[in-house]
Amino acid sequence: MDVGPLNASSIHYYGRKGKDIIEDARTHIGKLINTNKNNIVFTSSATEAINLLFSNFETIVVSSIEHMAVLSSSRGDHIIPVNHDGIVDLNFLELYLEKLVKHNKNTLVSVMWVNNETGVIQPIEDVVKIAKKYECFVHCDAAQALGKIKVNLSEIELDFLTISGHKIGAPTGIGVLVYNDSVNLKPQILGGGQEKGMRAGTENILGIRGFGEAAKIMTNKLDNDSTQVKYLRDYLINKIKILTPETIIFGENANRVANTILMALPSVPGDLALMKLDLDYFSVSSGSACSSGKISKSHVVSAMGYEKLAYNSVRLSFPPNDIVLNSENLITIQELDRLAQCWSNL
Ligand code: PLP
Repeated sequence: MDVGPLNASSIHYYGRKGKDIIEDARTHIGKLINTNKNNIVFTSSATEAINLLFSNFETIVVSSIEHMAVLSSSRGDHIIPVNHDGIVDLNFLELYLEKLVKHNKNTLVSVMWVNNETGVIQPIEDVVKIAKKYECFVHCDAAQALGKIKVNLSEIELDFLTISGHKIGAPTGIGVLVYNDSVNLKPQILGGGQEKGMRAGTENILGIRGFGEAAKIMTNKLDNDSTQVKYLRDYLINKIKILTPETIIFGENANRVANTILMALPSVPGDLALMKLDLDYFSVSSGSACSSGKISKSHVVSAMGYEKLAYNSVRLSFPPNDIVLNSENLITIQELDRLAQCWSNL
């Protein structure tokens, strides 16, 4: 069925059909992350979901390596540093909250699950423990975690989670806020009362359906196996280090998702590396892909204490494991050898 023109607010057959599609998608996403589907709100993006949530809190504590969607909408007045490996400093968080909550009730702590530049996995269970000790609410930006590692909300006491459809194969322009319904959230977008009044505007049925289907496929995959991608990633890193030992691999000693490498050469600016690699037919990003097009300083690299390399970082992303496995010639060892060679000639 062509779902494009359906308007779920209409009472006639096609309107009801549209509503069914939305509720099915909500069910599939709820199953994927093991949460009550009724606590899921569809938005136009993870960015919008984060903005909606943050507009409800005066005091928001975030880590220094958050995505700009979090950093920009949190006003940036309570920032927790990370260590050299890009992992949030839990001791600092604890001491900070101990002081802060004496004067600020209703504090939200927001730490991402997986960093989008380095791929470093954050100790989110520990963050939750500390935040709960000081009676704070906790939000996790799981845009980069979903589909790469297990995101099971029944195993972690998060109050809020945001995710983005296109990170798991849905079309762009669809996001989700999962919320704790004991908190009375006010909407940011007012209008026709869609999404139980939490986000007005005719629903993006195509995007919602795509997100639901992607979630269904992901749920049916038995695990988040990334063995082949990890093998290829490690092969490439090894090769690069042999040919160009001065290469810095950010977060190398930390637990990371397999599909991302963030690296830099001290003598080569990221934009130059990117352009040269592009001429050799390698599509890589400079720092965060969300700001591609404008080559800017990586606040993540800088927060990790590599200030001098903040304009030099280059991010490589591998496709998901099953795609790599099912398309034998998608990434070959020969191509990785050629990439390592091109990197050494920069
Ligand atoms: N958070 C992280 C970690 C991301 O990587 C992104 C986008 O890349 C976002 C949030 C924003 O997602 P969206 O593009 O759906 O607004």
